[in-house]
Amino acid sequence: MRTDILGVGFDDLTLDEAARAGAALVERGGFHYAVTPNPEFLLEARTNAAFRQTLLDADLVLADGIGVIYSAKILGRPLKGKVTGIDFAQRLLRWMAAQGKRLFLLGAKPGVAELAAAHLKDAYPGLIVCGTRDGYFTQDAPVVEDIRACAADVCFVCLGAPKQELWMAKNGPETGCSLMVGLGGALDVFAG
Ligand code: UDP
Repeated sequence: MRTDILGVGFDDLTLDEAARAGAALVERGGFHYAVTPNPEFLLEARTNAAFRQTLLDADLVLADGIGVIYSAKILGRPLKGKVTGIDFAQRLLRWMAAQGKRLFLLGAKPGVAELAAAHLKDAYPGLIVCGTRDGYFTQDAPVVEDIRACAADVCFVCLGAPKQELWMAKNGPETGCSLMVGLGGALDVFAG
């Protein structure tokens, strides 16, 4: 059962629980995707039906930030706490590094994903970054093929909302990935 906050259902999970749920999705086989809605997502979802549907269809819906937590409290349906995309990603990366899982980084301006990859490999020894690609492409098919050819287990999709959610829902199943996570500006953060 999800907790409804302004028309979007959230998973009521602590960071630990969310990280375990993410790892379980990677292990489960088949394609899954995770979203990290903040209050701007909820506003956009009110008028953008396709976007709203991608949030409803996601396998993991995490409350990114205190705005969603406050809304939940005011509505009388409190959540355990915020699980930001960055915190979730960091927990997942720790697990991936220990398990030898393969990560693809998609998004941000040219050069940013490569820099983020270098920093992440330093921060998480053993992490395999199997591919990177910037987020300013015009055709989906070569990107899908690239992710597939790298045999990525997990892909961080950082194209901003709602683009990244629509992209994951449409293209994810063809990539062979087990889990995609929509992470907005995370690559800019990881690139430091
Ligand atoms: N971006 C991209 N392709 C696009 C539009 C945006 O790769 O067509 C990237 C942009 O370079 C930035 C990220 O998506 O790295 C969006 O960051 P922002 O913080 O605006 O997203 P939010 O977290 O607010 O959704």
